[in-house]
Amino acid sequence: MQHRDTQKKFNLPKEIKFCKRCTMSNQRPRISFNEEGICSACQFSDYKDSEIDWDERDRELRELCDKHRSKDGSYDVIVPSSGGKDSGFVAHKLKYEYGMHPLTVTWAPALWTNDGMRNYENHIVEGGLDNVMAKPSGKVHKLLTKLSFELQGDPFMPFIFGQYNQPLKMAVAHNVKLVMYGENSEVEYGGSMKHAYHPDVPIQDVEVMNMHGFTLDVMHEHGITESDLKIYRRPSHEDLERVGVTLHYMGHYTKWIPQENYYYCAEHNGFKPFYKRSEGTYSKYASIDDRLDGFHFLLMFIKFGIGRATSDSAHEVRDGHITREEAVGLVKRFDGEFPGDNYQTFLDYCGISEEFFWKVIDSWRSPHIWDKKDGEWVLKKAVWHEEALKEAAEPANKS
Ligand SMILES: [Zn+2]
Repeated sequence: MQHRDTQKKFNLPKEIKFCKRCTMSNQRPRISFNEEGICSACQFSDYKDSEIDWDERDRELRELCDKHRSKDGSYDVIVPSSGGKDSGFVAHKLKYEYGMHPLTVTWAPALWTNDGMRNYENHIVEGGLDNVMAKPSGKVHKLLTKLSFELQGDPFMPFIFGQYNQPLKMAVAHNVKLVMYGENSEVEYGGSMKHAYHPDVPIQDVEVMNMHGFTLDVMHEHGITESDLKIYRRPSHEDLERVGVTLHYMGHYTKWIPQENYYYCAEHNGFKPFYKRSEGTYSKYASIDDRLDGFHFLLMFIKFGIGRATSDSAHEVRDGHITREEAVGLVKRFDGEFPGDNYQTFLDYCGISEEFFWKVIDSWRSPHIWDKKDGEWVLKKAVWHEEALKEAAEPANKS
C-alpha cells in the first residue's frame, strides 16, 4: 500500500515540540506556538480569562437573539446536535434562557451507542427540543467510511460532511438565518486563529478547516454516484445567500468549558455519562455517541502522535481542572490505547480484513513521528519522554 506523507499533506513541522503549558504538540494541523513555546490554544485561553468581558459578550448574544427571534413561534435558530453534552447545552440555553425557538438537527451516528441514543432521547427530545434527523444509506455510508479510512486516514470524514451540511440544509428548508454551533474547535483545541475574534465564520472556511481540503468528488472515482452523495452535500451557494444563513459559535458568547457543559446537561436535562471510560482517554462524557469514534481518534494518534487523552487533558489544563504534570501522566497512560471494544465491529462495518486494516494504519505513520524498535512501533517523541519534559521545564524565556 502506498505510504502517505502526512508531514507534507498536513504541512506539519518536522521537529516535534510540546507546549510548555499543556500537553498539545505542534503536530496538530494549523496550530501555532509563540516565542515562549506556548500553543495558540493556551494563548487563547489566557485571552478568554483576562481580555474578554463575558457580561458584554452575553449582551451581544441577547442582541443577536433579539434580532433573530421569531414572533410567531417558527424556528429561528438551527442547533446542530449529536445528542451530546455540548449541543444539548447550546440548544437548552437558547430555548429556556434566551427565549429562542431552536430546531436541533442530528446527523445520525453510523453505529449509535446505547448510551448515546438514550441521551439523545432524554436530553434533546424529552428535554423539550424539536429535532430532525438524517441518516444516509447504510450501503453508501459503509463504503464512504472504508474509503475515507483508507484514502484520508480518517473514517469519520463522511460523518463530518453530513454533520456540517445537514444543519445548513435545514436552515435553508426552514428559512432560518442563524445556525449556532458549540465551540470553535480551531481556537479551543488548537488550529487556525483566523476566526478567533469574530462572532461568525464564513461557511466556506468551516469546510476548509474541517475537511483538510478533502472533497467528496474523489469518491466518483470509486463508483459512488452524485446521487449517492447528495445527502452529504451542502446547499447551493445561491440558496444560502438567498436565506442569508450565518454561522455562529456559542463559544464566542459564553466561556466554553466542556466539563461545565456536562454538569449543566446532567442537571437540566438528565444527560448521563458513558457506562465506562472511553478507550484512549480517561473521560466518560465526551464523544460517546458512535461506536466508530475510537477509530477517528486512533487515526489522529497515528497521523499526528496526538491521541484522545492529549486533547481532553490539554483543555482541562487550560480550564485549571488539572495540572500539566497530572495531564502528562494521563497522556502516558491512555493516549493511543487501541479501541479494541469495537475493533471487530469496525472491520465488519467497513467490510475489511485485519490485514487490510493494519496496512492502512501503517501507511499513515509518518517517519518524523514513528520509529520501529524490535518490531514495535514507538513514538519518536512523546510529551512524557525525558527530553520533552526537560524542554517544558526550561524557563519560558529561554526557548
Ligand atoms: Zn498549550
